[in-house]
Amino acid sequence: MSPTISGIHHITAITADAQKNIDFYCGVLGLRLVKLTVNFDDPESYHLYYGDRLGRPGSIMTFFAWPGATRGRIGPPQVTTVAFAVSAQALEFWAARLKESGFAFWPGETRFGEGVLGFEDPDGIRLELIATAGLNGESPDGPIPPESAIQRFHGVTISEEGHENTAKLLTEIMGFKDEGREGHRYRYRSANGESVVDLLCIPAARRGGMGAGVVHHIAYRTLDDAQQLEWRDELVGLGYNVSSVMDRVYFHSIYYRDPGGVLFEIATDPPGFTIDEPAEKLGSILKLPPWFERRRAELEQILPPVRLPEWRLAA
Ligand code: ZN
Repeated sequence: MSPTISGIHHITAITADAQKNIDFYCGVLGLRLVKLTVNFDDPESYHLYYGDRLGRPGSIMTFFAWPGATRGRIGPPQVTTVAFAVSAQALEFWAARLKESGFAFWPGETRFGEGVLGFEDPDGIRLELIATAGLNGESPDGPIPPESAIQRFHGVTISEEGHENTAKLLTEIMGFKDEGREGHRYRYRSANGESVVDLLCIPAARRGGMGAGVVHHIAYRTLDDAQQLEWRDELVGLGYNVSSVMDRVYFHSIYYRDPGGVLFEIATDPPGFTIDEPAEKLGSILKLPPWFERRRAELEQILPPVRLPEWRLAA
């Protein structure tokens, strides 16, 4: 049996200001802060996780907060845009909300028959809301009316110098389906039908550079640890340089680069964010992995204080 990648698990980006990031993703976009923790590879900085009410795979946007980090450069090879799915009627609501909140936006584009509203987060990360038919997910119980709330990712745009080799990886190995092209944009849909990866072929563009306002990596979903090990074997067999399995507490991860150089991760669906705090309390206090608990007092001194949003989980 060949293992399955069902769709996108999470997307991780870099912010220079944790508080502005929280205020934007929770206060303006209405996502739930589902975990306040540290970067496991750099515990003196935060790792912020946002998502739907439980932070289910497919809805998880995460940030490494590097205070005062210089701005990165958006360009290939990177995930250059992150798109969220909203109901087909919600774009007008969002245009008004972004305007009210002081954020510029770019309405009017239609892509593969769906309306697109483009804007940027406070660090300059390019975001989109896409009018998506047939949504049936659960929205967060946040400040946004349920009929307009963000439900999950619609997908990403990955900019590359050429698309062919990554297209092969997606379709021949990772279970994505080719959905055609519009101009230089080649679309691939995940096995669960929920998310798309658009490869934008821009051979002449200036290369991107890592820093604030840039997406760090994209993670795809696998069912469990056993399938993850199958993926690891398969990718290693194909010549990919794949990391060992990393314990991220809320999921387990392996990392590799796509043929264009974008950092890919395969993350397990379980155990999820309720492993160390109850659903109604997600994101309400700083959680540390067991191996950093003995450093809690020291880390709490180093990490900048943040104001957390109020959250009421509906019954
Ligand atoms: Zn990740």
